[in-house]
Amino acid sequence: MKETKEFKTETKKLLDMMINSIYTHKEIFLRELISNASDAIDKRHYLSLTDDKVSNADYDIKIEADKANKTITITDNGIGMTKEEIEANLGTIAKSGSKEFLEKLEKANKSKDDVSIIGQFGVGFYSAFMVAKRVSVLTKSVKSDKAYLFESDGLDSYTVSDAEYDDYGSKITLYLKDDTEDDKYSLYLDEYEIKDLVKKYSDYVRYPIKTWVTKYDELTEEEKKENKDNKPKTHQELEVINSMKPIWKKDKKDVTDEELNNFYKSKFMDYQDPLSSIMVNVEGMITYRALLFIPKKPFYDFYNDKNEKGLALYTKGVFILEKCKELIPDYLRFVKGLVDSEDLPLNISREMLQEDRAIKKIATNIEKKVLSELESMLKNDRDKYLEFFKDYGINLKYGLYENYGEKKDKLKELILLRSFNDDKLITFDEYVKNMKEGQKDIYYAIARDKASADKLPQMDLIKSKGYDALILSDDVDEFMIQVLKNYNDHEFKSINKDDLNLISEDESKEIDKKAEDNKDFLEEVKKVLTDAKEVKLSKRLVDAPCCVSTDGEITFEMERVLKQQNHDIKAERVFELNPNHPMFEKIKDAFNTDKELGKKYVNVLYAEALLAEGILPNDVNQFNKDITELLLKK
Ligand code: ADP
Repeated sequence: MKETKEFKTETKKLLDMMINSIYTHKEIFLRELISNASDAIDKRHYLSLTDDKVSNADYDIKIEADKANKTITITDNGIGMTKEEIEANLGTIAKSGSKEFLEKLEKANKSKDDVSIIGQFGVGFYSAFMVAKRVSVLTKSVKSDKAYLFESDGLDSYTVSDAEYDDYGSKITLYLKDDTEDDKYSLYLDEYEIKDLVKKYSDYVRYPIKTWVTKYDELTEEEKKENKDNKPKTHQELEVINSMKPIWKKDKKDVTDEELNNFYKSKFMDYQDPLSSIMVNVEGMITYRALLFIPKKPFYDFYNDKNEKGLALYTKGVFILEKCKELIPDYLRFVKGLVDSEDLPLNISREMLQEDRAIKKIATNIEKKVLSELESMLKNDRDKYLEFFKDYGINLKYGLYENYGEKKDKLKELILLRSFNDDKLITFDEYVKNMKEGQKDIYYAIARDKASADKLPQMDLIKSKGYDALILSDDVDEFMIQVLKNYNDHEFKSINKDDLNLISEDESKEIDKKAEDNKDFLEEVKKVLTDAKEVKLSKRLVDAPCCVSTDGEITFEMERVLKQQNHDIKAERVFELNPNHPMFEKIKDAFNTDKELGKKYVNVLYAEALLAEGILPNDVNQFNKDITELLLKK
């Protein structure tokens, strides 16, 4: 008996989209069918354990290509389908996931967006129609003992007829579409292509996936003589082509470093071993395994905006998507790897990933694992950590700064900055442990390197006390320090900006008094410097005659960073004069005797102080002229 049935409207829509799909990864049909086959075997196996009437079997999934007829057949000895199940499962879209997918697909088509979302959904059985003009399913359920044949061209209807089938399970035959300019469907008949696709998408399916593989035979002496064209003699053998047990499903102790490294290199196409590998195995509320790698060097496209972060995602050993960005925070975007969970549905969509609680939990845990790996690297293998930090340290710094320092407590111990005294990278903890008696604050200098920090006038006082200073040389450093505010109750003090309180109370009082006595003079100086917010006597200069510091949130470094981003925001400048420097009296004298000369001194000193901070004087020509004039003066 043969019945013809109409597809439901929604199913028709979906099928229509599959048939006309311009999706470039049509190859995923094989993954979908293998995954269905594997599920069907799971179900039969489960029944066989709970129902005496159901037998188990030597489970396998066979892929057979028939080049002459251009068909590819996927056979499983799983649970099979009854007639009702055929109608419910293949005749209608039962799953909410598919409905959602359909809506997305319609939208995508409308906006002429590529239908790349196909790859992110488990489109299931219907994906067969991306590559096949006709699909037949011969199936016998372990529950009914009767076999049926489903056939359809994916257009409006399908037929179901009574059939004969020796085995339990399903045999799905795809009659491949004819090749076009863009799509070479016949490629799927190639044994190497089949092997590749299985390796790529289904290597870790628990059941053996078998296909016919060409084997080369030794020729006998007799045959060699006859075989003048040197034609190889071959035969076909049914061979298991998946490894069935992925490396991440093995116990840590059974996996060698070499195995891990080789896996990393082949999966992520790197030519060198990773700097670090982490195997994660979590069982409990959420069960998953993960393999994480830190590449030795950032990938060539790491700094490219289009480079997407993410870990490969598998559920129950079935490959879902290449880059699941929800699994890894931005600041760890350099981490490569994969997650395989038992607790996620195969047809999980992009939107679902964002909301999924299991994914969130896994992501939190993965972040923790990576950070604890880094902590132990820092503790036990300093050289390796330095190598890591050289390439990726900046990411951790951004991670600390992002979201108002949400993660600062997790990250602050992992940050390295250059020590002025030792000229090498140290942690905040190491800085604090090395503090001199009586030192309370952590000093930092914003400078390119030690040599430039050394030129900062304010550095003298720090040196005279024998204190160390951290050198902040990356753009993000100062933002990071601002977010941190302090480290274990030690405040951060900028040598460039903050009042360092390093002189004795008596000395301080003396300067205050001097400032009071020289009030009028300082006011006059202020009038000369139109862009300085304040002119004052400095409490932190030893050898230098003067310096500029900043008042308020914005510092010179920030001004520079903001300027690069086209923001015209200026730091408020404070001109500080060293009252104990001979220059101080010299300017004062000049103001009394030759005011124009006094103004020139002030302008030149101010410009010099700005230069020391890496800022050009407002009027470079004037500055040069003034210098020359002063040099010529007898
Ligand atoms: P999904 O597998 O995500 O549920 P599909 O569209 O791929 O969606 O399949 C729909 C249903 O058809 C499956 O849930 C399953 O019940 C049934 N099915 C598909 N392939 C097979 C198979 N090889 N053996 C038994 N049942 C199958």
